[in-house]
Amino acid sequence: MIRPMRITIAQYSLSGCEGCALRLLNIITSNEKLIDHIELVSSRVMGIPEVRQADVAFVDGSVLRDNEEEFLMEIRSKSRILVALGTCSIMGGLNALRELYTVAELEEQVYGMKLNIGHLDSAKPLDSIVKVDYIIPGCPPPTWEIEEFLLCLLLGKEFRLTDRTVCFECTSQGLPCLLERGEVCFGPVIRGGCNAICPKYGIPCWGCRGIVEEYGMERLIENLRKHNVSPERVKEYIRIFLLKTKLRTLMR
Ligand code: SF4
Ligand code: SF4
Ligand code: SF4
Repeated sequence: MIRPMRITIAQYSLSGCEGCALRLLNIITSNEKLIDHIELVSSRVMGIPEVRQADVAFVDGSVLRDNEEEFLMEIRSKSRILVALGTCSIMGGLNALRELYTVAELEEQVYGMKLNIGHLDSAKPLDSIVKVDYIIPGCPPPTWEIEEFLLCLLLGKEFRLTDRTVCFECTSQGLPCLLERGEVCFGPVIRGGCNAICPKYGIPCWGCRGIVEEYGMERLIENLRKHNVSPERVKEYIRIFLLKTKLRTLMR
């Protein structure tokens, strides 16, 4: 049973699609177990744009624009616990693709003109700027895991991410292996918790929950080679979520 306590929550978005924010807000406005124990004190999406003191701040997106570093530091100074929510905030995520182009090239491709958008040279994860207390990975993170995190906080229990890989969750459901068919699947080294949702629908895992098994990477690369997957194809898929990881370094 949840103790009769209330916590204040703040939700902030840096550069990103805000899919993580919507998932979080959906949970805290509709989960019957949590709703009476949570007070939302800040969220631009919900019409409360100010940075306010809070027990827990969830921050999604990465630091990509020149005013976001200062914004993040202000958030940190007003939050007892800071949670990096989603892949963009933990390892750059899709935003890291920005590092493959110049700002001028991107402005031309996206807007067809020069706009002088104040972009930094790289998509910085939150922990490169401030102390992060917890991470909840995924693009966006699974609903159950955000709920579990909030329940642990309310119950005073320790929250831990699973150390199981996507491969573990995939094979335990008896799903056919896409890697064995020559597809680029990073499941053997990627953190589970998503119940191998992509392989379940016939889509390889491209690693949105980050790498859990650093030591398994050489083995993964060997396996990809064994199934005649070219390094060029692997590099192409690393760009999606794993651009800032050791896997990229190993494939150079
Ligand atoms: S992690 Fe994915 S869902 Fe979350 S903000 Fe980034 S792109 Fe959007
Ligand atoms: S499809 Fe991917 S996640 Fe599933 S068993 Fe094969 S390598 Fe592992
Ligand atoms: S299978 Fe891989 S890419 Fe898909 S949700 Fe899970 S970790 Fe993310």
